[in-house]
Amino acid sequence: MSEAIPASSAVEDYLEQLHQLIEEKGYARAVEVAERLGVAQASVSNMLQKLDQDGYVVREKYRGVVLTDEGRAVARRIVARHELLTRLLRAFELDEEIIYHDVEGMEHHISRPTLGVLTAICEELEADPALLRKLRRRIRRG
Ligand code: ZN
Repeated sequence: MSEAIPASSAVEDYLEQLHQLIEEKGYARAVEVAERLGVAQASVSNMLQKLDQDGYVVREKYRGVVLTDEGRAVARRIVARHELLTRLLRAFELDEEIIYHDVEGMEHHISRPTLGVLTAICEELEADPALLRKLRRRIRRG
């Protein structure tokens, strides 16, 4: 798939969860994907069929679902965005639940140039604890 046609948010969420399950357990099954995403198993079956048709996954009878190279590439991009956004927000000591919720929303809408900007900001902040403290104080004051 060309980068000019980005995967939808739903496709990215599925590929992210599939990638995570495969990293943790070596395989992913529809029932676990349904649990993680909080959706019905029928929805997962439909989506997996679409992902298979689009060349992102292969459904194997006994191993569950595996990612194709294209599926893995999309999953890795979303995981990288998820991790960077989480790292940036954690620097400001926000509540973990808020961080997770907001990152799950934002991660679908970050282009490569913007990811570059946020990465640079994150790295500079981590290298400058005084500036980070100053920003935290300012945010706490509201
Ligand atoms: Zn995420």
